[in-house]
Amino acid sequence: MWKILVSLLSLALVEAVTRYDGYKVLRVVPNGDAQVRYLRNLEEDLELSFWKEASFPGRPVDIMVPPNKFGRFKTELRLFGFDVNTMMTDVQSVIDRQMEENAEKRSMNPDSFDYNTYHTYDEIDAWIDEISAANHDIASPFTVGTSYEGRKIRGVKVGKQATGKKAQYYVGGIHAREWVSPSTMIYTVKYLVEGYGNDPSITNYLDNFDYYIVPSSNPDGYEFTWTTDRMWRKTRSPNAGSNCVGTDPNRNWSAGWGRFPGSSGNPCSTSYRGPEAFSEAETDAAAKFVESLAPNVAVFIDFHAYSQMWMSPYGYTRDSPPEPDYTKQIDANKRCGEAIEAVHGKVYQTGTIANTIYVANGNTADWGYDNQNILLSHAVELRDTGEHGFLLPEDQIQPTAEETFEAVKEISKIALENMQ
Ligand SMILES: [Zn+2]
Repeated sequence: MWKILVSLLSLALVEAVTRYDGYKVLRVVPNGDAQVRYLRNLEEDLELSFWKEASFPGRPVDIMVPPNKFGRFKTELRLFGFDVNTMMTDVQSVIDRQMEENAEKRSMNPDSFDYNTYHTYDEIDAWIDEISAANHDIASPFTVGTSYEGRKIRGVKVGKQATGKKAQYYVGGIHAREWVSPSTMIYTVKYLVEGYGNDPSITNYLDNFDYYIVPSSNPDGYEFTWTTDRMWRKTRSPNAGSNCVGTDPNRNWSAGWGRFPGSSGNPCSTSYRGPEAFSEAETDAAAKFVESLAPNVAVFIDFHAYSQMWMSPYGYTRDSPPEPDYTKQIDANKRCGEAIEAVHGKVYQTGTIANTIYVANGNTADWGYDNQNILLSHAVELRDTGEHGFLLPEDQIQPTAEETFEAVKEISKIALENMQ
């Protein structure tokens, strides 16, 4: 107990917990290019936090607003012709309720890993060893590298032991606050190991592919969301000449890095691209690890939340990749989206990143395609479409994982078809 008290105390001395009392999440839908431009300019206002950035007319934009700014801001939005909907009235109360539920579930089942709760980085790390040991014939832990703060970035490799196999690499949790991504990765490992020898299609995939699944690719940021700021997105490395910490690890890859728009050069922005490509220990390690598997990587997927989208390159330009790749990628997006919808009826939008969510450069999926020639290089936004946003309740962990796993099976099927 004293250890917990001491660590809590030292934490309090180092950094106060960030609270969101009275913060609201507003949704507006721009009806034309002028309104899109207006919202884009607001992204420079660092008091506002864009949960869902402005992209196209007709696409909702979600903005978290502090209480002291709310009245003024709402008036301003109305003056500019927006209808304003409140998605969440008090972000802190939602966080508090979820953490209470999480603690309650833990206390009911202290000794076993509950797949239907969110887990800390240390718990995920311990689970990696447990599930690997329990399924050692087809699962083993692997280490990608070390984070800025010195945490091991680890994952589980699942596949029948054989040489010359193709690989699939899944990036989970690269954005710290998107908690359903690590849980979906954890469930994916579970479904794969349980399916081997029981489900002929999964057995076939594991005979043909090694799945490298990393639940938490940004461990410092993820840990920070548990201890200090539930809404943290970036890494935790300091920035020279600025008091603002962290780089957006999904704007830090080399493909199209540093273009504008699509990332920020301001270290205080949540989409800060970093001083150079691969400046972050986490992205550098991940890229080197994937390169070490080349040229055998058939599938590369980066899982985010939220918005319900299954996307392919490019993010750094609205131009399409050359044919025949583009048609194959778009077809894969659609098939994965349909596989998801067939499970619980959740509709996923599909298309290229820049034409579906927004222009984003230095992202994982573009790097996988441009730099590693991985045809099936995808960016996914998991549940939901904004009702809970980053604060997806724990009772949606399992259904999200269930439907996502059907898309994992579908992309594996597509990859096998492409190999023939
Ligand atoms: Zn994300």
